[in-house]
Amino acid sequence: MVYKILAIIFLMVIFAYKLLLTYLRQLSTQNPIPANVADIYDAETYEKWCAYRSEKNRLTVLESFAGFVVDVVLFTTDAYASFASLFPKGVEIQLFAVLLLSTLTAILTLPFTYYDTMKIEEKYGFNKSSAKTFWADQIKEFIISLGILFLLTWILSLLHRALGDWMIVAFAGVLCVLILIIVFLYPLLSRINNKFTPLEEGELRDKLTALLTKHGYKVRAIEVMDGSRRSTKANAYFAGFGKSKSIVLYDTLIDKLTPDEICAVFAHELGHGVHHDTLTGQIASFGQMIALSVLAWLTLRSESLFAQFGFNGINYGFAVILLLTIEFALLSPLYSLFANALSRRHEYRADRFAVSEGYGEHLISALKKLTQTDFGDVSPVPLSVALEFSHPPLSQRIDAIEKAMEKQK
Ligand SMILES: [Zn+2]
Repeated sequence: MVYKILAIIFLMVIFAYKLLLTYLRQLSTQNPIPANVADIYDAETYEKWCAYRSEKNRLTVLESFAGFVVDVVLFTTDAYASFASLFPKGVEIQLFAVLLLSTLTAILTLPFTYYDTMKIEEKYGFNKSSAKTFWADQIKEFIISLGILFLLTWILSLLHRALGDWMIVAFAGVLCVLILIIVFLYPLLSRINNKFTPLEEGELRDKLTALLTKHGYKVRAIEVMDGSRRSTKANAYFAGFGKSKSIVLYDTLIDKLTPDEICAVFAHELGHGVHHDTLTGQIASFGQMIALSVLAWLTLRSESLFAQFGFNGINYGFAVILLLTIEFALLSPLYSLFANALSRRHEYRADRFAVSEGYGEHLISALKKLTQTDFGDVSPVPLSVALEFSHPPLSQRIDAIEKAMEKQK
């Protein structure tokens, strides 16, 4: 019984934390706007922004509540064990049954995602996906997440049965390799869903190539991705390992920013590259994977835990569900507190790098335009920034960029 009570208490803590984050996000609609970002939205747009934010926050509260209720019902009624008992015996099929139920119940929260994308984002003019693209994306995501979850859980079960306590090391290793594979595959995966075309010859192409080669990088390709098919929001990134890079620009970015502003964005990205920030980030995520592996080990050590939720012996699927919905959910806010603080420092440093390349002015105007098109928050409350912002608030970033430009003079 004690594990069940703990599960409910932890689910309540996780739900309360989500409410706190949403409440803090809502507070920024009442926070005064700093002077150096006051020109981003005119009065009418700002009012629209506040309405947009409030609608999103209301939806988040409803969605978190629905998720909380579903989880409490699943855990208190031994639903996972009952569902698994409908399937034949055998470790693989039993763990699959639990994962299947978990993924199926995730469908219950789909109406919220639908409402967010097709109603709220649509109403404020961001959404570009049709209902057809939306459902196709959701089905793909459903199959992929069930597949990945099954594969990971199956590997966990093999390692645990073969190695016993040594599974900690082996499973942590598997998770770290998986992260590397995802990092490696991400550029390939985005090719399945989007069209890429080479950037046409001209000023932008020449400037970007010059900027990269100056720092010893080899430019493999500069491509434009049709991000506008899904959203009006703009983005850009580097792909590839080591010194050989390809650049991906969203078509939306090219529409909105001048060539100099795009170069400023890439000078910032280059700053991350020169300081190996992505590598540090990856090492930090390895730490997270080790924690996950230790938690998996702790969960699997206690057979009475499984009995309290209606199972006869260990069910690896249930162990993973516990791990993800409760244990890891409790731990990750602590992790993000540190990871985000580190990331914000890296952002400042990358901005300073762009300034040293002579792009300070253009970076400020690029960041302002990006905030405008992303409908970003210009006046977040400090606690909100500390808890969940991977980037510093725009106003403080501009201050820091201006200071760096002063110093350079
Ligand atoms: Zn950055």
